[in-house]
Amino acid sequence: MPNFVVLGAGVSGLTCALQLAKQEGNVVTVVAKHMPGDYDIEYTSPWAGANFLPMALEAGSRYERRTWPELKRLAAEVPEAGIHFQKVHVMRCKKDEPTGFRLALSDGLFAPDPWYKAVVDDYRELPASELPAHMHSGAEWTSVCINTTMYLCWLAGQCAARGVVLKRAVVGHVAEAAGLAEGGGRRADVVINATGLLACRLGGVMDAAVYPARGQTVLVRNENANTMYAASGTDHGADQLCYTMTRAAGGGTILGGTYEKGNWDPNPDPNTAVAIMKRAVEAQPQLAGGRGIEGLDVIRHGVGLRPAREGGVRIEKELINGVWVVHNYGHAGWGYQGSYGCAEHVLELVDEIVANTKSKL
Ligand code: FAD
Repeated sequence: MPNFVVLGAGVSGLTCALQLAKQEGNVVTVVAKHMPGDYDIEYTSPWAGANFLPMALEAGSRYERRTWPELKRLAAEVPEAGIHFQKVHVMRCKKDEPTGFRLALSDGLFAPDPWYKAVVDDYRELPASELPAHMHSGAEWTSVCINTTMYLCWLAGQCAARGVVLKRAVVGHVAEAAGLAEGGGRRADVVINATGLLACRLGGVMDAAVYPARGQTVLVRNENANTMYAASGTDHGADQLCYTMTRAAGGGTILGGTYEKGNWDPNPDPNTAVAIMKRAVEAQPQLAGGRGIEGLDVIRHGVGLRPAREGGVRIEKELINGVWVVHNYGHAGWGYQGSYGCAEHVLELVDEIVANTKSKL
């Protein structure tokens, strides 16, 4: 029976573990320093919004395109996963027209004629009568918002229900993980490396192309925004963003944010927090009952470090110290919305390794 260790229990690792465990006969162990329920600056997944706002250009859209049907199914059929449908307003600011509405965060989201309009159900361009004066254009469509606290626990639970063993351990070298496999003392046939940002510090990997893209957020109890919101820019610099999303099942509303490349600071900055809240209530006054930021009821201030990578996500196989490793890290700001597409690619590489190993026996 093929035996796998998934190193990492963020959305990338847990999604791969679940998909591997769905294949009969696979023995799967998840090994991680941080698990669902933890809040730590080294663990990105709990800090995400999270929603599905495609960021890739059409040529790189495979992962997001292949993830949407599963997120949609979970929102429609599996309420305990903590995902619900929500309309979104994607707004292109007049001032961003010269750059083609491209952001550090995203090449494709604000494109005037995006590939994803054929993928989601009800995409429509907003007429001028529905746009504020400083907007060049905008679109509305139905997306999903994920309550990350619920969803990560749900993923871990789904893994456990399929026999996956989840273990706490800190691994110094990626090849060591093979020795932590369940299944009668056998070493894992393949290690899935889903270590996110820490791939830059993991022995055997030490990927110098990985860097943090810091995201500061404010989580509030207010849930009256009606739609999610994302603007192509703000007046406060290229690393300052404006977005809102209300999480499923009483998860509150996330106000964002920032995209600060190379910034490792784990502490929320108070001035940034005020600016985030002001931008949010200017864009959606109804969120605070028209009372400005005084009308916001803060649950907590957050900082997460998106695992960005020069050259983009790394999904490839590599033989390291005699252990087959399939890498799956570097998802920057789209780890949830690309999770099932990435897991699909990981499983293709795993199949190649297993088939090749069998043919040599
Ligand atoms: P992580 O969640 O960081 O998990 C890494 C795992 O590896 C952890 O379990 C860790 O303990 C383990 N690990 C690492 N090194 C070791 C080691 N040596 N030994 C043992 N274990 C180890 N994405 C979206 O799709 N939509 C959004 O709306 C969205 N919004 C975001 C908003 C913010 C503010 C932020 C910060 C991110 C957002 N993202 C969003 C991005 C998304 O959160 C990330 O892409 C995703 O969480 C990365 O997940 P991961 O599993 O790769 O890494």
